[in-house]
Amino acid sequence: MAALDTAAVADWIRRFRDVIAEKRDWLTELDSAIGDADHGANMARGMDAVVAKLDVGVPGTVDELLKTVGMTLVSSVGGASGPLYGTLFLRMGMTAGPVAELDGAGLAAALRAGLEGIVARGKAEAGDKTMFDAMAPAVDAFDAALAGGSDVGAASAAAAEAAAAGRDATEPLVARKGRASYLGERSAGHLDPGAASTTLLFETLAAASAD
Ligand code: ADP
Ligand code: MG
Ligand code: MG
Repeated sequence: MAALDTAAVADWIRRFRDVIAEKRDWLTELDSAIGDADHGANMARGMDAVVAKLDVGVPGTVDELLKTVGMTLVSSVGGASGPLYGTLFLRMGMTAGPVAELDGAGLAAALRAGLEGIVARGKAEAGDKTMFDAMAPAVDAFDAALAGGSDVGAASAAAAEAAAAGRDATEPLVARKGRASYLGERSAGHLDPGAASTTLLFETLAAASAD
């Protein structure tokens, strides 16, 4: 795909909800090792609420759609992940503006702004063992692929691969942000749950933009 229109963005969001539902127990298992065993439930509750909104009607512009996703996540998820994912989508929407579709450059700018919003909110840095460790390399890989001539679909596939590598690299890390940081050294040896859900976000973006 060369660009994502509102229907394609909605397809991405619905795919994300579906895979979150499918992997809910795994995400909770990851969070039970280094957190409070609710990441799967938090994400599933939030994405179910988002899809319920989209079922009523999909907004006509990309920014309204992304802002709806963000506001619904902020208001329906109590844990750290609600405000963080909510901020990602709200910032993406603000950056996209009232357009009917996002081309590669538009999606790159939106993703970058979303990542910056997560950092503004949670202050995570590389290696803190958070969702940032999957998202930052994914956004970088998206930019690099675009610069190399990839379309949105291929750039999203590159981003998904980078997210998965970033997720896997969280395993040996000692957490420095979020609940997992309370465990200190005992947080090492487990994947970060937020990095795992972020990888699903980019894998579903790649699937939704594949053709
Ligand atoms: P809670 O920790 O409140 O129970 P969740 O379990 O839903 O919330 O989400 C936990 C995830 O949130 C972590 O795995 C981590 O990826 C992410 N996270 C926590 N704090 C931060 C932060 N300050 N910045 C970025 N991500 C964070
Ligand atoms: Mg938790
Ligand atoms: Mg919690």
